[in-house]
Amino acid sequence: MIDLVFRDALVVDGRGGEPHRGDVAVDRGRIVAVGPRLDVDAAQTIAADGLALMPGIIDSHTHFDAQITWDPTLSPSPALGVTTAVIGNCGFTIAPCRPADRELTMRNLTQVEGMSIDALRAGIDWGFESFGEYMAQLRERGSVANVAAYVGHSSVRTYVMGAEAARREASDAEIAQMQAIVRDAMAHGAVGFASSTSPAHNGEGGLPMPSRLASDAEMAALVGAMGEGGRGVYMLTKGGHTPVSFLESLAAATGRPVMVAALLHNSVAPRAVFDDLDAIAAANARGHRLLGQVSCCALTMDFTLASPYPVEGLASWKPALGRSGTALQAVLADRAFRDGVRAELKTATTFRLFNSEWDKVHVVETTRPDLARLEQRSIAAIAADTGADPLDAMLDIALADDLRTVFTAQLLNSDEDAVGRMLNHPHSIVSLSDAGAHLTFFNDAGFGLHLLGHWSRDLGAMSLAEAARRLTSHPAGVLGLGGRGTIAEGHAADLLLFDPKTVGRGPKRRVHDLPAGAARLTTDPVGVHGVWVNGRQVADDHGLIAHAPLAGELLTRFAA
Ligand SMILES: [Zn+2]
Repeated sequence: MIDLVFRDALVVDGRGGEPHRGDVAVDRGRIVAVGPRLDVDAAQTIAADGLALMPGIIDSHTHFDAQITWDPTLSPSPALGVTTAVIGNCGFTIAPCRPADRELTMRNLTQVEGMSIDALRAGIDWGFESFGEYMAQLRERGSVANVAAYVGHSSVRTYVMGAEAARREASDAEIAQMQAIVRDAMAHGAVGFASSTSPAHNGEGGLPMPSRLASDAEMAALVGAMGEGGRGVYMLTKGGHTPVSFLESLAAATGRPVMVAALLHNSVAPRAVFDDLDAIAAANARGHRLLGQVSCCALTMDFTLASPYPVEGLASWKPALGRSGTALQAVLADRAFRDGVRAELKTATTFRLFNSEWDKVHVVETTRPDLARLEQRSIAAIAADTGADPLDAMLDIALADDLRTVFTAQLLNSDEDAVGRMLNHPHSIVSLSDAGAHLTFFNDAGFGLHLLGHWSRDLGAMSLAEAARRLTSHPAGVLGLGGRGTIAEGHAADLLLFDPKTVGRGPKRRVHDLPAGAARLTTDPVGVHGVWVNGRQVADDHGLIAHAPLAGELLTRFAA
């Protein structure tokens, strides 16, 4: 008698094969047979009745590093079909971390990933100092989904340099210490090394996140240390001074794959992202493995001027960073500050979150009755009414409302024709959910269901088989997750049962369930009938099941 059999499912194998009706048998966490009518005796039978069964979604870009220490369910991802989450992206991790650096680390995460400082202070369980101790804690506590963890550059740098990590280049001796930590983390099962050189990534007080201070030599030394054992992926959210050519040189020197983020389409510089993808394709043609992380979600962010993530990456916004209350209001009211921002927004750039598309910025909510008439209107329209400059219009509304006005901005990835080409590019990887981060701005944890429903079914941008492949065997292959991401005998029974006719992600909604009562946006699955991790059911057609088993495995062994 085996554990479980799915009868008469539309089997989508995850390798891109033509979907076919059949049975899938599972025993002790693994798929043991796949076939038209299996002659097996199982303790549990799921009558799939033509529903689709595919491998569970692998989310290669999450930020659950802090949340996982208080929430082993990794909410909301498993209910949205995610059975494996990769944490530590962009290098914004919480291990290694000396006790004296905990407050700084939390303040950095608050700024760079939009995580509530109160939630982090109340929530993080700091039962570790080294990366190995962090991994031991994760293994001991368990999680609903499988987890793989990057060792993060900014944490490694802070561990070696303390507060200086955000202020200067490292000495040779410090680089050598960092290399030793990266080697140690790889020995403890890190999936790779993650970093960021993006100007959008600022930490406490508006200082750059530590990894942004790394010289090319430091970056090369650390990627080299990662790759010494012939394993590991180098992940980077890149800024202008780390062009694809430099990343190719690292791939060439180490033989390791490089995941390049964040390739989002910008309608103001529509070629930029394709130039990067072309450069990545050319690198692959020379035998170097580079991939561009792309997103199937339009990047829309809710924000207030008290913490306006969309513009905080601007150099001209610096005087406002790290300030609050009346000090911040004084900066925002200053004419020279505003002129500086206007001037910078007029310059061309390859990557910038906000690009003066004022018709795509709307007032969501005000707290003053006399401002309520502005709700749901665009800043472009509001400014046109009075002949004001749009930046002035937005800042004046916010100042009149004590910076409590909620705005929403459609920033990037809204051109579906362009995004469709990015999703189908031979060297892109569908990623960038940022699950676990930016919880008050947006929530794309349901990216996989969105690819299956919106892009495959509704727009016909790719077949169901190809959408499933892009979410499963493709990331599994890149990350070296042997034995996952395919419905095949011997593979782990990470499975998603869904209705292709209805699958999708529900609207975002605000809940207040973080530690210390902090708010976040969440999203519900549509058309999902069940999710299994290593053969154990964690979600059904109502979402995550009550007391979902901690069925996930901490992944520490990766293919070369
Ligand atoms: Zn990220």
